[in-house]
Amino acid sequence: MEFQRIDIFDRNDRTLLIAGPCSAESEEQLLAVASVLSKQKISLFRAGIWKPRTRPGCFEGVGKKGLPWLRRVKDEFSIPISTEVATAEHVELALAAGVDVLWIGARTTANPFAVQEIAEALRGCDVPVLVKNPVNPDIELWIGALERLYNAGVVRLGAIHRGFSSYGEKYFRNAPQWQLPMELHRRMPDLPLICDPSHMGGKRELVGFLAQQALDLNFDGLMIETHCNPVCALSDARQQVTPDELALIMDRLVHRSIDVDATDFISYRKRIDEIDEAIMELLVKRMQVAREIAEVKREKGHAVFQPCRYNGTMQRYAEFCEKGKLDADAIKSIFEAIHSESIRQQLCIVNDNKE
Ligand code: PEP
Ligand code: MN
Repeated sequence: MEFQRIDIFDRNDRTLLIAGPCSAESEEQLLAVASVLSKQKISLFRAGIWKPRTRPGCFEGVGKKGLPWLRRVKDEFSIPISTEVATAEHVELALAAGVDVLWIGARTTANPFAVQEIAEALRGCDVPVLVKNPVNPDIELWIGALERLYNAGVVRLGAIHRGFSSYGEKYFRNAPQWQLPMELHRRMPDLPLICDPSHMGGKRELVGFLAQQALDLNFDGLMIETHCNPVCALSDARQQVTPDELALIMDRLVHRSIDVDATDFISYRKRIDEIDEAIMELLVKRMQVAREIAEVKREKGHAVFQPCRYNGTMQRYAEFCEKGKLDADAIKSIFEAIHSESIRQQLCIVNDNKE
């Protein structure tokens, strides 16, 4: 896929910033926040007109009557405007109202029929579209949505990482899984990557921290929900920041150099590469031993999987993590992967010899 630049984003020299309220609530609310934001360095104004809510009965957006309000933001403050679209009708209404950039929300990205309908409605229209990650961490679904749009001729595309939902008590509303946008970048290096720390954190106190993480990972921009009176917002009141808070967050961000040839790193990277190679060699050795023990298990008629042995091994890893200040969950998933490969290898031995 060959993407074209989204020229609107060139307004800002460093990190592009998309700011504005979660939802357009009234003409006054929209113009008030736009008026303050127009004095800050923002690339694009955002406001949801149609709000996809998880449960019925919540504020579902003002609908099309909000489009002329959004248009006034563009005309009176000369800021390009954006909104979320989820149906072909939204696309038509938004384009007719002069919306400059559209975005597809997480719940819609997860639905190929809806994305295809939007793509068809966009055929022949030269408007940039930003695609939020789907609610579940499925990179193919995210790429699939981008492809559907690209195949319909939308060549000015961007991706927004807004985190992934999960069940139960959680620190983040939608926890980031940075490896997904990183993989997306590996596969599509020219696709602009934007982070939405507001929907990730779900609390305004986390916005700055998450925005910094995104910058440290070379994201091209941020989408931050901004409202003049966040506590009274009709949607996402907990996560919106005031324009002053936004300015502070932006001021505090540290922009790091992304010079990949930096000589400062060479010796460290060499050591890391050597350690990675040693880990791989150890893994090969470990699997060899697993295959040998599988022979013994087969001969003696023992089952491949021995639960008490597995539990004991997992316990040892946990103690190791504490000593080495490593994240127990991360290390657990590495060892679960090693163990599952070991089981697969052993099953191959047992099954090969049976035939
Ligand atoms: C939004 O940006 O207002 C929104 C609904 O986001 P998401 O699709 O990420 O939940
Ligand atoms: Mn929101």
